[in-house]
Amino acid sequence: MSYEKEKQVAIAAAVTAAQLCEQVRRDLPEAMEKTDKSPVTVADYGSQAVICTTLAREFPDDPLVAEENATALRELEMTDQLTKVTCYVNELIAEATPKSVLEWIDRGCGDVGPRYWTLDPIDGTKGFLRQEQYAIALALVEGGDVKVGVLACPALPLESGEIGALFVAVRGSGATVQPLSGGEARVIHVQRGEDPTYFRLIESVESSHGDSDLQNQVALAAGITAPSLQMDSQAKYGVVALGQAAVYMRLPSPKNPDYRENIWDHAAGAIIVEEAGGRVTDMYGEPLNFSLGRKMLNNRGVIASNGIIHPRLLSVLQEKTKIVKFCKEEENK
Ligand code: AMP
Ligand code: MG
Repeated sequence: MSYEKEKQVAIAAAVTAAQLCEQVRRDLPEAMEKTDKSPVTVADYGSQAVICTTLAREFPDDPLVAEENATALRELEMTDQLTKVTCYVNELIAEATPKSVLEWIDRGCGDVGPRYWTLDPIDGTKGFLRQEQYAIALALVEGGDVKVGVLACPALPLESGEIGALFVAVRGSGATVQPLSGGEARVIHVQRGEDPTYFRLIESVESSHGDSDLQNQVALAAGITAPSLQMDSQAKYGVVALGQAAVYMRLPSPKNPDYRENIWDHAAGAIIVEEAGGRVTDMYGEPLNFSLGRKMLNNRGVIASNGIIHPRLLSVLQEKTKIVKFCKEEENK
């Protein structure tokens, strides 16, 4: 299967959502707080509404599993926020009304199944609020395997100097990048040599989303001596796919060791790195499992690399976690 229609629809949806997000970003968005205390903005809701309605029109039978839902926006005290979301969506889709926007957002409350889409309407909302990196991440999963991934990174600079990158990958067909504003797509590859400028680790800006100490120790023991790079969102996968970092590591935070990763935080990025010739596993070398529900229940952490360095990283990590486990057991004696 070529997935040509899926790819074109996903690109169109992500590009339109990126336009909305950039408009909100220029208007300096305010953060609202979700029940889990994480931030959300009118752009998260607007982006999800735009993408959900586009997918519903073209693939009415496909479920969509997205990060947001419209429950909070339906509250009376949120009327102003709903009006704002509707205004932004309305600039791009003329028929948008508050009622339809709520329905479109809730179309993202589908279930994981044999074929489904997964969406992070704004990945890295904290980066978006800081006017730094963020991404719109959309992927199609069939039989647990990601088949199509589209990652729009509106604030990511390209080598040409243009700002805004659109990464696209289809299983078995490679990965490309193109300017988000339009232009030629070019095939991308992960790092093949050990270019000292780019032979480095990339990790989250948010220290609570990983274990930066261990990530840096593992990278160093695997031969990476350059200082690590911190970036929000799945743009990190894009940077690895472009060959500008050897590895993106996300090890469980010691403050939150039982955290399980969300499917929408990794599906699009993972296929982009794999199709660029890299490798993506969890911290134990297991493939990411996108078939168990909204969370990757059987995986811990994520490592996305150029492939060549992957076995070295896994064996260093295995050694280090053995030592940590041994020390903990000794302490408890
Ligand atoms: P990043 O910018 O790479 O840190 O990714 C942002 C994503 O981190 C958000 O979309 C959250 O879903 C996710 N996240 C939130 N808390 C944690 C945590 N404790 N560990 C790992 N990821 C998290
Ligand atoms: Mg996210």
